[in-house]
Amino acid sequence: MADWNPWHGCIKYSAGCRHCYVYRRDARYEKDSSLVHKTANFNLPLRRDRAGNYKIKPGERVWTCFTSDFFLDLADEWRGEAWSMMRERSDLYFFFITKRIDRFYDCIPADWGEGYDNVAICCTVENQEMADYRLPIYKETPIRHKSIASEPLLTPIDMSAYLGPWLNKVVVGGESGQAARPCDYQWVLDIRRQCMAARVPFYFKQTGAHFIKDGRLYQIPRKLQSAQARKARIDWPKGTGLG
Ligand code: SF4
Repeated sequence: MADWNPWHGCIKYSAGCRHCYVYRRDARYEKDSSLVHKTANFNLPLRRDRAGNYKIKPGERVWTCFTSDFFLDLADEWRGEAWSMMRERSDLYFFFITKRIDRFYDCIPADWGEGYDNVAICCTVENQEMADYRLPIYKETPIRHKSIASEPLLTPIDMSAYLGPWLNKVVVGGESGQAARPCDYQWVLDIRRQCMAARVPFYFKQTGAHFIKDGRLYQIPRKLQSAQARKARIDWPKGTGLG
């Protein structure tokens, strides 16, 4: 597993961005996350070691653009080169999450066609409003590997009208950080029920910091949030994970 952040920084875009982890992390170093810039690792997929081999080994999954949004408008001038690198490294599997699926057609390269086989794009929806806005767009986009992330899950969401075999999976999780908005287990179970009805794999990734179960609010330390989700044993089918 490799990380590739070709640019860093982002502009808050919807409710799920309020406590963005990029902003929280940068704040520790008094960095302004809204100043978007290319990183020193911009060309990481093409870098080679002294022996002439790619630093990112063939076959690796590459978590892409996790300190920004790949479809951010402030990155328009850099994205073409990033796509070229992904095209050249067809031996890698790139994965990114976006809140800006509505910019998809402004952002794809000329030879995109039905999508690059080595690129997965996940659409994130944090509440009903964003599900109703983004998922109809997302469903129709030509992308070879699609998934939904409801993380942070901020409200109950009925996404049943959009689920179907076009999706690889739905991932759900709460919000982290001291000021996190609570996530209710009932909302998680409800999305799971929708996924099972639509035969779409479901993965409960983490509880978030403030988790409501049976009407009671629990404070979950960061290091236990994923473990607590695992304990619930509700991934469906069993064994569904992030990969
Ligand atoms: S889109 Fe993602 S990276 Fe950008 S501000 Fe929102 S949460 Fe942060």
